[in-house]
Amino acid sequence: YTPHIMRLDLWKTSGHTNFYKESMFGAIEVEKADYQLKPMNCPGHILIYKSKLRSYRDLPIRLAELGTVYRYERSGVLHGLMRVRGFTQDDAHIFCTPAQIESEVEACVDFAFAVMKNFGFDNYEVELSVWDARHAENYAGKPEDWDRATAALANTMARMKIPYKKMEGEAAFYGPKIDIKLIDAIGRPWQLTTVQFDFNLPARFGLEYVGEDGARHQPLMVHRALLGSVERFFGILIEHYAGAFPAWLAPVQAEVCPVSEKVLDYARHVTDTLKRRGLRAHLDDRNEKLPAKIRDAQIQKIPYMLVVGGKEAEAGTVSVRHRSKGDLGPKPLAEFVDSLQKEVESRSISV
Ligand SMILES: [Zn+2]
Repeated sequence: YTPHIMRLDLWKTSGHTNFYKESMFGAIEVEKADYQLKPMNCPGHILIYKSKLRSYRDLPIRLAELGTVYRYERSGVLHGLMRVRGFTQDDAHIFCTPAQIESEVEACVDFAFAVMKNFGFDNYEVELSVWDARHAENYAGKPEDWDRATAALANTMARMKIPYKKMEGEAAFYGPKIDIKLIDAIGRPWQLTTVQFDFNLPARFGLEYVGEDGARHQPLMVHRALLGSVERFFGILIEHYAGAFPAWLAPVQAEVCPVSEKVLDYARHVTDTLKRRGLRAHLDDRNEKLPAKIRDAQIQKIPYMLVVGGKEAEAGTVSVRHRSKGDLGPKPLAEFVDSLQKEVESRSISV
């Protein structure tokens, strides 16, 4: 993890104090020096890269962290988990040679699609965010570098046969980017993945590597966040599934509901058996009637409720009830554990 506050000078070098000032909190004075809460993780990773001389043989270098960043948002725009002032980015920076950049970008985009598929999102829009040449003062770097970087991203998407929309003026101040917006269950778009081509920060920080020719060259950088903000991603997930998560994502996968205190020992055995297999089981050992236990588990949208009474204890079974499919009848405990484990391991998104 890179530090949460860093010297203000670093943010001057990166260009954040020029181009990103409105999204940053004010500087903090510590022992007569000015420090800045980090709005991005990039400079931290850049310093790690810079900590020793790199050779072309070391590249690409891929650094990742779950980094907490702080951005000044006006109180009026704060919104639940979706828009907050401090959040966690699944952030990575790839330092590579110009020859490697397109394949690195391609790998990031592939990775993003795989992650979204796993979480059950198959509806998204891809945007190529480019600079606005009429407002070059809002961006760092020369026009020809912007054109080259934009062409590289466009080529990559053409090769991957990904349709996209071009968004003028939506680039980061240091380079163009590919943004993936996912469309949730009720049709709203959410900004998620970003893959950014950066030729500016390596130059501003004087990054180098020793090439095959023995001379010093400047690497390029890819900024990559898949979920974007982890907090917002969880907000989107909760909304998308309306809280009824598929079994592999559910905080509790099976609620064990004994019909009376007499079968508590067997109910504990059922719960422990599930837990030993790595499944998230919870025992409802409250002194409540069965219908109340079922109702509460149903309200919590727990995928499976396992009813156990005297008959089940004797036969080594559980009476399975599914949150949306209803009563599935009695099943031998071992058989239920196997089938739930298979469902979880396959990351099935059926709810
Ligand atoms: Zn970055």
